[in-house]
Amino acid sequence: TSPSTQLSTARSAELFDRARTVTPGGVNSPVRAFNAVGGTPRFIRSAQGAWLTDVDGNAYVDLICSWGPMLLGHAHPEVQAAVLEAVTRGTSYGTPTVPEVELAEELVARTSVEKVRFVSSGTEATMSAIRLARGFTGRELIIKFSGCYHGHVDALLASAGSGLATLAVPGTPGVPESSAGLTIVLPYNDRAAVTAAFAEFGDRIACLITEAAPGNMGVVPPAPGFNAFLAETCKQNGALFISDEVMTGFRASKLGQWGLDGAVEGWKPDLVTFGKVMGGGFPAAAFGGRADVMSQLSPEGPVYQAGTLSGNPIATTAGLATLRLATDDVYSHITTAGETIKAAAAEALTKAGVPHVIQASGTMFSVFFKDTAVTNFSEASEQDLPAYTAFFHAMLDRGVYLPPSAYEAWFLSSAHDDRAIQHVLDALPAAAEAAAVA
Ligand code: PMP
Repeated sequence: TSPSTQLSTARSAELFDRARTVTPGGVNSPVRAFNAVGGTPRFIRSAQGAWLTDVDGNAYVDLICSWGPMLLGHAHPEVQAAVLEAVTRGTSYGTPTVPEVELAEELVARTSVEKVRFVSSGTEATMSAIRLARGFTGRELIIKFSGCYHGHVDALLASAGSGLATLAVPGTPGVPESSAGLTIVLPYNDRAAVTAAFAEFGDRIACLITEAAPGNMGVVPPAPGFNAFLAETCKQNGALFISDEVMTGFRASKLGQWGLDGAVEGWKPDLVTFGKVMGGGFPAAAFGGRADVMSQLSPEGPVYQAGTLSGNPIATTAGLATLRLATDDVYSHITTAGETIKAAAAEALTKAGVPHVIQASGTMFSVFFKDTAVTNFSEASEQDLPAYTAFFHAMLDRGVYLPPSAYEAWFLSSAHDDRAIQHVLDALPAAAEAAAVA
């Protein structure tokens, strides 16, 4: 059933029909199809600053920001100028280039990593980091947490087996048991489960990978000291600690999630994955870390990894321009805008009597439609999904584009000015009322 909408969506509906004929589900990444919330996915024609415009001419304040990358908003004039200039010199050479060195230097200067290798998606970054960890340690098992998403890497599309500290089963058809069976899936924020897994499999574990602060089950901040505990436990067991900062990198804070914990507490992950913001809206991602580990990568070392478009000059130019513009002012603006929206959402939902809890890590936040704090995936799954669906559509009808799933972070940018924020605030009370009666 399609939720009714006051907006005209005829062109989006027509395009969605065409798309479904030639593309599975009509989309190139599943959540875009609105499967969780129903209704017509909006085909976006253009974007400027904080706003999206669809093919029917409807405008929306964008609270997804391309699922994180658009830290400076859409079509930022300086990023755009840098990209346009770069394009005039050709778009891909398959040789080393200047912007990739400069972007690598920027990443090394701004994070814990000593060396970095560029790839084209977050998936490639985590896949390569795991291969490198296995190559470096000579071990095969990996640990991940339930509810953490690291891209569609076979070994990471695994679901927990029955019982704690057992080997996982495939999370989707197409993943071989032999691949998922090398993964151990544990509940997030659960130190005892981590300790038990290392006690059982310690000398076989190549690495533990975690979202630096999970954003893919909604925002579930690491309990104080949890990341430090993971880093230390890995070290004691000769395993590598991989912090996935694809979403949090240059987003949760200027230094990513690491800026909120590791940099303050004085520890470093062995490997880190990046994506989203560092590509400035282009397909660029990276993995990096300890120099001795990264040196195992080809051509310096024996662990193979490569890419035709890796370090692409346009993508790295966009990423470099974005990071250079991502100053303290940008993060303080996004922090303030987030505080305003969080407070207004809490007020509207409370007034309407809708159970909710708002969680954040740095500037990243999300609203859970349940009344108690969420520390792991099973608690995130207790949400009132019909309430979120009603809330989502009421916001969309009023020109606010939220993530089309209750399990996602809300993203802001430095382009979310007073007018855009006011537009969100104006929509919230009616959306909260809609959620109340869902
Ligand atoms: N890791 C994390 C933490 C992510 O949020 C994502 C994407 N949402 C990925 C990895 C995969 O990145 P990509 O979609 O670019 O493959």
